[in-house]
Amino acid sequence: MNEQQLDYNKTTGVSCESCKNETFRGVVFLRKLSRFVSPDGQDHVVPMESMECAKCGHINADFNPNPIVSSPKEDVSIEDKQESADS
Ligand SMILES: [Zn+2]
Repeated sequence: MNEQQLDYNKTTGVSCESCKNETFRGVVFLRKLSRFVSPDGQDHVVPMESMECAKCGHINADFNPNPIVSSPKEDVSIEDKQESADS
């Protein structure tokens, strides 16, 4: 999709879950990939781009690619247990 043709009337605003601020800035999560699980046997640091609230620094769950930080709710960990039980 070309951004210039985007109809902003069809978009919805996103606000911070914590303070309701509506401006965000880019941040980068870093994830370490151990050589023991890495396909090439080398340690890696993998960047994952996200957005944080420009006012309070909160990262909405929708923007948080980090499974550890984004799953403070108990039901998420229950979901993970169910997945591992299935396989
Ligand atoms: Zn905020």
